[in-house]
Amino acid sequence: MNNMFNLDGRLHIPNRAKIYIPYFKFKSLEDNYVVEKAYCSKNHSLLSNIRINGSNGIHLLTSDLSGKKQCNVVISAFAGTGDYVVLSGEPFHENDIVKVFCPKCKTELDILFDCECGAHIYVIYGDKDLDWYYGWSFCSRVGC
Ligand SMILES: [Zn+2]
Ligand SMILES: [Zn+2]
Repeated sequence: MNNMFNLDGRLHIPNRAKIYIPYFKFKSLEDNYVVEKAYCSKNHSLLSNIRINGSNGIHLLTSDLSGKKQCNVVISAFAGTGDYVVLSGEPFHENDIVKVFCPKCKTELDILFDCECGAHIYVIYGDKDLDWYYGWSFCSRVGC
């Protein structure tokens, strides 16, 4: 298990994320915040049946920009932990730019804006109204 979140809680798979989701959307558990709802833009839940750290993980399909290399991964829903499970494929490396898809409909996650590093910033929605304010965003460059 590599670190997927930094100690400051930023998502590190495929990139770390700053969490914009208000705390009331999380369940506090041992000082960590748990993502209990996560949706793609088509309203599919990204929550997996695979439990990591005692909570359902978040299932994401990632690929390189050409789409040739893919990694199917479940990440811990606990902000601040670094745990994940690779279902298939090879994890990406630091500085790689990845595309991120819903594993159910294969739709690319919505892009909020571009990071100052030039890569896209994706959003995972925290409610079915697809209000990006209640979501997480993360840069698609690993480690940015
Ligand atoms: Zn979907
Ligand atoms: Zn970036």
